[in-house]
Amino acid sequence: MEISSLPRFPLATLPTPLDELPRLSQELGVRVVMKRDDLTGFAMGGNKARKLEFLVADALEKNCDMLVTGGGVQSNHIRTTAAAARKAGMDAVGVFFSSPSGEVNGNFLLDQILGAELVYAEADKHETELVVQRVCEDLRAQGRNPYLIPVGGSTKLGVISYMLAVGELLEQIRAQNLSLDAVVVTTGSCGTHAGILAGMKFYNSPIPVHGITVSRAREECLERVARLVNEAAQFLERELALNENDVIVHDAYIGEAYAKITPAARAAIQRVARLEGIFLDPVYTGKAMAGLVDLVERGTFAPGSTILFWHTGGAPGIFGFPLDVI
Ligand SMILES: *Cc1c(COP(=O)(O)O)cnc(C)c1O
Repeated sequence: MEISSLPRFPLATLPTPLDELPRLSQELGVRVVMKRDDLTGFAMGGNKARKLEFLVADALEKNCDMLVTGGGVQSNHIRTTAAAARKAGMDAVGVFFSSPSGEVNGNFLLDQILGAELVYAEADKHETELVVQRVCEDLRAQGRNPYLIPVGGSTKLGVISYMLAVGELLEQIRAQNLSLDAVVVTTGSCGTHAGILAGMKFYNSPIPVHGITVSRAREECLERVARLVNEAAQFLERELALNENDVIVHDAYIGEAYAKITPAARAAIQRVARLEGIFLDPVYTGKAMAGLVDLVERGTFAPGSTILFWHTGGAPGIFGFPLDVI
């Protein structure tokens, strides 16, 4: 299977910029560059726009009439999926794994502007995928043809979208004559991390990919990233074999729980805003940047090295957790 022959529903404005962060770099003593996937544009941007280009095209090919996915109340993924469904002429169902706090803001507000059908299911975090499956079964019983998108859009198609994003990045660093020592990315449902890693294999690039998990334990991430890379490899009938130490996940930056702010993430959000005028979010990229800063301070990233931070978006989440970011 050639990637170029896969159906694709255009959503994102590509290529996203590759920016220098000179003032942050000067403070940290490493050169930090940023891949601006917060600027994918569609429906307020973020990494899900890339994944949804392939997922929506697959849904349309299967004649589905609605996209169904799950997440937290401030899910960027539910917001972007709902918007993509609308652009493709479909209905959208968002399954929330907890009840809303009562405040209508951030992503939760955008979901309502989009007219997504919102389902509240108190789910144990281990059975969230089952809950979304059950909602789809109910919809089928009502004569609908739902397309189930797993949490975070982390499927082989989502992975493939990030393999292409690596191709885009490698072209940019070639044009800018940059040599990267590491990529740092937020690891959530693991598809973005898996896609970047698979992309490095696909394009024969040795740049290590460091994932900063914001929810799952390290072991679970290692297993998920490896599984997703293998699923994409099998589907594409390509050799994307991982070596033992290829999947790198740091789990020291989650704090109390997913979507609970940490002092380091709050500081990182303010620091990047005040040095570079760039907004990170409290749930994902703020914690990932806190990880990057700590790994520099610990010497994991040597002074003078060049580190790419892959900004995956999430700005609407700022408005969902205002007191977490000031
Ligand atoms: C979903 C999301 C992530 C995590 O990506 P995964 O592919 O789920 O690991 C990171 N940052 C933001 C802003 C997101 O919305």
